Amino acid sequence: MQNLSTFKLIERISTIVRAEERKKYAALGLQPIHIQVLDYLSACNSYSNTAVGITEYFGLTKGTVSQTLQVLERKGYLEKEIDDEDARVTHLLLSKNGEKLLEEANHDDIFEQAQQAVLSKQYASLDDALKMTLFTLQKGCDVKSFGSCDSCINFNVEDNHYICTETNLPVWQIETHKICREHRFAA
Ligand code: SF4
Repeated sequence: MQNLSTFKLIERISTIVRAEERKKYAALGLQPIHIQVLDYLSACNSYSNTAVGITEYFGLTKGTVSQTLQVLERKGYLEKEIDDEDARVTHLLLSKNGEKLLEEANHDDIFEQAQQAVLSKQYASLDDALKMTLFTLQKGCDVKSFGSCDSCINFNVEDNHYICTETNLPVWQIETHKICREHRFAA
């Protein structure tokens, strides 16, 4: 696989996860941020389960958070509760439907496969574990790998020249380290 930095690996993993979430929840009229907000609310304490907490955690504008919460409430995934001590504070709680949706989101087959792939082996470095996560997600989600020639099934050396068997054209050495939309893993 192309030698991506740790942050690039995380970015690519995140891109696949978000794209999968977008596809999955479009039918319910939801976007990834809606699931992320439910996830946050399921994990935070009672000082933090407010619109301000969400705004700070995700770095969103108040307007975006307000719209996000309206959608979640309208669809029955969220309930509001006024604070016992301070009536100006509104706590945001997952409804039964919200808990069910989040439970399903957290048990996605593809994401579990990726997790298993990482847990089933010891890795020499964080980057190796992230590469396995990315590889498993790309395979599971049928997403193009965008790797480079050194890990591609189409890469060949003939008479001391690099050849791409996909195109039957030579590959310049400088190009062999660059990402390619036609890349296919050897394994
Ligand atoms: S398909 Fe792309 S990555 Fe694979 S050998 Fe050809 S140029 Fe390289």
